[in-house]
Amino acid sequence: MTAELPPHQRAVLDAVLDDLPDRQVVSQVSLGRVKGELKKRLMPYASGLGEGQEVHVDRMSLPAALVCPASNERDPFEWSAQNAARSVGLPALASLVRGGDRDPLEAVERSMAEAIDEARSVGEWLGGLDGVGHAAVVAAAVTWCARALVAVPWSSFPSLRFGIDAVWHRPLGSGSLVVMRGRPDATVLIRRHPVTEQVLVVLGAFDEAIGRLDALTVACKLGRTPLRVVFVQASSGQVDRLDVDVDLLDAAIDDAERAVAALVPAAQGQPAEEIPSGRCWSCDRRDRCVTGTAWMAAQPRRVAGVPVA
Ligand code: SF4
Repeated sequence: MTAELPPHQRAVLDAVLDDLPDRQVVSQVSLGRVKGELKKRLMPYASGLGEGQEVHVDRMSLPAALVCPASNERDPFEWSAQNAARSVGLPALASLVRGGDRDPLEAVERSMAEAIDEARSVGEWLGGLDGVGHAAVVAAAVTWCARALVAVPWSSFPSLRFGIDAVWHRPLGSGSLVVMRGRPDATVLIRRHPVTEQVLVVLGAFDEAIGRLDALTVACKLGRTPLRVVFVQASSGQVDRLDVDVDLLDAAIDDAERAVAALVPAAQGQPAEEIPSGRCWSCDRRDRCVTGTAWMAAQPRRVAGVPVA
């Protein structure tokens, strides 16, 4: 069956299953050391946090913290058709792969109805939409779901789990005010008696720091390190992979420490550091950020990407 796959799906299958190590690269002893190191490195920052000052390291805050901590300060979260597409589209995708629905439209309509019935956050928002708003969400989610369905040869994997919920790890114990949140979209399960190995699949553009965060969070939470993280950008067909080893987990700890150090002041109500860069051009805060506005004004004017006097 896999010999007939189109080239872009073949590339995903190869990225997930080819050249997998035949034994665990990160031993349980090494993983124990990694968890201890993560706790030791984050503990000093957590001691300054009080009730209601939780710091989350996730796929939104991590890239912001590593480039410009102030850019993580966003307006209060609001659902939109665009940011609901994945929340609605992923359960729909899971249903289609299991054979529970016939097409993306049916699967998305069912997923939206379930979200409303279960009174999830996105469901409460969906329940208040008028017909136009409902149609906008359906359009965005069906596009997301259909692209994801054709980008990956889901039925070629021996066993699969979709990541409907994020993976939470509290590195300082159950009451930890520092939280790591990984969010792989799916996990390919490779059963090797007596253990099950995992390859994480992320539907999105390749980002090494996010891949490291997902690998570290899943390893710490589940007690077994994923062998690999594979990124599939459904809109372009781009496929990238990160093989997970101890060095990668150590780099993830470095990221987490830098991110927590950068995010703690904002959690304590202090101003976060503003570090201008190319991120300013697409930053939500650029209209009210003096530093970023000044930096952008000082950049050479460009026409069609070419600097002009
Ligand atoms: S506009 Fe630039 S400097 Fe200001 S918060 Fe955004 S990324 Fe940082």
